[in-house]
Amino acid sequence: MADVINPATEEVIADIPWASVEETDAAIERAHRALEAWRAVAPGDRAALLRRFATVVRSHEDELMRMEIVNAGHVAGNARWEAQHVANVLDYYAGAPERMFGRQIPVAGGIDITFQEPIGVVGVIVPWNFPMSIATWGFAPALAAGCTVVLKPAEYTPLSAVALAAYALEAGIPEGVLTVIPGEGPVVGQRFVEHPLVRKVAFTGSTNVGKKVMAGCAEQVKRVTLELGGKSANIVFADSDVEAAAATAPYGVFDNAGQDCCARSRILVQASVYDRFMELLEPAVKGIRVGDPGDPASEMGPIISRRQWDRVASFVTDDVPVAFRGSCPEGPGFWFPPTVLESAESDLAYREEIFGPVVTVVRFSDEADAIRMANDTDYGLSGSIWTRDIGRALRVARAVDGGNLSVNSHSSVRYWTPFGGFKQSGLGRELGPDALDAFTETKNVFINTSD
Ligand code: NAD
Repeated sequence: MADVINPATEEVIADIPWASVEETDAAIERAHRALEAWRAVAPGDRAALLRRFATVVRSHEDELMRMEIVNAGHVAGNARWEAQHVANVLDYYAGAPERMFGRQIPVAGGIDITFQEPIGVVGVIVPWNFPMSIATWGFAPALAAGCTVVLKPAEYTPLSAVALAAYALEAGIPEGVLTVIPGEGPVVGQRFVEHPLVRKVAFTGSTNVGKKVMAGCAEQVKRVTLELGGKSANIVFADSDVEAAAATAPYGVFDNAGQDCCARSRILVQASVYDRFMELLEPAVKGIRVGDPGDPASEMGPIISRRQWDRVASFVTDDVPVAFRGSCPEGPGFWFPPTVLESAESDLAYREEIFGPVVTVVRFSDEADAIRMANDTDYGLSGSIWTRDIGRALRVARAVDGGNLSVNSHSSVRYWTPFGGFKQSGLGRELGPDALDAFTETKNVFINTSD
């Protein structure tokens, strides 16, 4: 049994039992037994069940929103968007069972056709920063493909995942098809990696744990997708709308208190507009409303835990050059003010993923310098490019090693476009039209038609 804490108040809001290895194995075996019937559900019926699941989620939108406010510290606007996002992702992948086309390939003496077969039981491992969205990115395409799913939420944030599993049953999805197993990473998550009946692991979390998951999966040549960390650049060229770039930069990094794998946590500014940019950035950062996530006026909530707070704080020591900071509530809760550092390229804060409301700003000289700096990291998840020159926007977008880039915007996630990282930010892609590839195997069948 583990206490679930509200990070804005430090109060215990629930007790959720953690599964043992034996309970995890039993759930995996149940998911395996459910597989045969689930993959045999007619495509139209599987689609209808997923649509009904989406409808049930919509009918619980307020409940899910409240759960993410009190359990993950998400501000109300974000939490509502996430609850709607879960239903939208389910609706989107409800379109997939009837579109899982194979191919017919011309051959001599017969017919050659391909099938997309469900991979089997899928283990989804979820982090605490976007609990219900990331859970859904894993289970929605997996269920659509005909796989069954065992899902482990993060230790801090199990509530919405537990609720979603109940909504799946309410929608008529059979027992054993989607099982949520709260528990510890090295116990439940590790069993997903080791258990031979789990045929694929979809992991989202830190790069360090992701590497261990990948190494463990290699033992059984188990399929794995990884969505890992980031240290993305927000590149502001002198020819951009500098006012707009400065006004939006805080939202590109401080959303969800910076606990976002896509956070643009390095702002690279062309030297000739650096001073102007900083002048404009200061009021934008100081204007961020940090407070009770349940208050609709709040734009930023707390950090998830004391442990994460300590980690974030360790990057803002006395010897680090703080340019300016916003404000945050005092008293209970893991509050940390939005913080802007003027760093050197060698500083730890510039190089490491902080995963909190801390951003570093540095100067670059020209386009080549900006590309060099943006790529000077082991990560490659997202990034933004601010310029009015369309040629430059495209050149830089092509040159930056990152899976999700935006021009004159900080948007990263649309459920109908692919999402994932280059380099040590991940392996494979989620969302978008091709996500089902990650949950299916291609089977080739030749049929002899000669007399
Ligand atoms: P984490 O790696 O500590 O934990 C992630 C999940 O893995 C949790 O459910 C945890 O219990 C589990 N886990 C831990 N040890 C395990 C093990 N040995 N075997 C199997 N599972 C194990 O990460 P976190 O602190 O929860 O999340 C923050 C990290 O996630 C950041 O680095 C962030 O960038 C990354 N992230 C990436 C994306 C993306 O899409 N690329 C999205 C969100 C978060």
